[in-house]
Amino acid sequence: MEQEIREYALEIGFDDVGFTTADPFPQLTEALVERKEGYSWISDGLLQLAHVADPKFVLPSACSIVVLIYDYYKQAYPQEFEGRIGKAYQSRLYPGKKRLFGSRLRLIREFLESKGMEVGVRPAMAERQAAVRAGLGNFGCNTFIYSPGRGSYIGIAAMAVSGEFEPTTAKKEHSCPDDCHRCIDACPTGALYAPYKMDPLRCIAFNSYGAGNFPGAPEDIPPEMRVKMGGWIYGCDHCQDACPHNQARLKQKLVPDAFLQEMVPRFDLPLLLNMDDQYFLNTVQQLMYGYIWEKKFIQRNAAIALGNSGDDAAVGPLSRALQDHQDLVRKYSAWALGRIGGGKSRAALEKALAGESEDAVTAEIRAALEIC
Ligand code: SF4
Ligand code: SF4
Repeated sequence: MEQEIREYALEIGFDDVGFTTADPFPQLTEALVERKEGYSWISDGLLQLAHVADPKFVLPSACSIVVLIYDYYKQAYPQEFEGRIGKAYQSRLYPGKKRLFGSRLRLIREFLESKGMEVGVRPAMAERQAAVRAGLGNFGCNTFIYSPGRGSYIGIAAMAVSGEFEPTTAKKEHSCPDDCHRCIDACPTGALYAPYKMDPLRCIAFNSYGAGNFPGAPEDIPPEMRVKMGGWIYGCDHCQDACPHNQARLKQKLVPDAFLQEMVPRFDLPLLLNMDDQYFLNTVQQLMYGYIWEKKFIQRNAAIALGNSGDDAAVGPLSRALQDHQDLVRKYSAWALGRIGGGKSRAALEKALAGESEDAVTAEIRAALEIC
């Protein structure tokens, strides 16, 4: 059966498959409890510590976990998206029901069910821990899993199943050299504050997600974090791109991804900032799904990136966005104009202040005028 599952998974596009027991992951519970400030959002609603660390909360009849690896670095990523959209997001790696990766997950699930097994994946599986225990890779100091020969540009799916399988064992150790801390040095926010320790609340990727679309993701991003987000509007790759173990992958000569090439001009920041609902649904959502389902969060992130660009050409689009019907968009556009500064930004902010009725936006406009 293990062989049959492996063959089917590889046939539908996964790159590696492993099996482990459905025992809990006590180290994960310990780590989350130890760092509970950064993970307080896990204790809300459906997503609770016990759920994350024990596969039997996902599926009471679970005997094993099937772990699937997908290598998402098979085509070249456009240079224009570097520093703007994380590779995992560009590769559409998230399980939207009608998306490619979602279909892949559905197919493997149906395959397992057709063999008489119960399968569970929600509310959450400890995917990285399961991958390590199934021998498919090991943690790097940047908290990503390194798959032998692939590096860390991989997606991991883990499914609790009622079938009992022989656990797979480690193929090869990934180890971080004792004197390497490039990932920690590369993290602009200090989110990666020690080897194997990351505070999601300070992570650019986490902050870029939509509040309500991803548990714990903030609607409002603290000003000091906005500055450190630089040009990122979805995700962040710094701590992976800096890693010596990923350099061979980064230097590969690959065929450009035609879909992404087509998307490049459509993801111009001013265009995103002032897009309408149709543009969001028909164009932006093709790429930006997973953790951002609402237009205003892409607009917020585009405003931040434009502000951080310091480019005077952004003043026009940002001034226009001061009229947006969403408070969030007006607020972040005001912040961005303050960051760019100059006479034109000041004039736009003063005009907006006269017509603004929302307190939070008014406060942001005033703060922006102070630094203009
Ligand atoms: S994804 Fe970016 S912000 Fe988050 S830990 Fe890595 S380098 Fe830091
Ligand atoms: S940059 Fe160095 S310390 Fe960080 S994950 Fe890579 S090898 Fe490990």
